[in-house]
Amino acid sequence: MKLHYPGNALARYRDQTEVKGNNMNGVMAPSFRCVECGQSRATKGRKKTAAGWRCAECQQAREYRKAIKGAA
Ligand SMILES: [Zn+2]
Repeated sequence: MKLHYPGNALARYRDQTEVKGNNMNGVMAPSFRCVECGQSRATKGRKKTAAGWRCAECQQAREYRKAIKGAA
C-alpha cells in the first residue's frame, strides 16, 4: 500500500519560506578582519593599507606612535 500525503509538499515549502524569513544576517553590522590585530572589527573607521584593511583602533595606535616619533 502506497501512501501519499499532499500536505508534505506544502510543509516543505513553508519550511523554506520560514528559513528565508528568519535570516537575520542583514541586521548585523558589517565587519571585516583587520590585517594588524587579526580581529573581526566593524568597518566603521577602517583604513585601507597596502596589506589590506586596518581597523580604527590599530589606525589610531599607529598615528599615536607616529605623533610621538614626530615630537621627539
Ligand atoms: Zn586592528
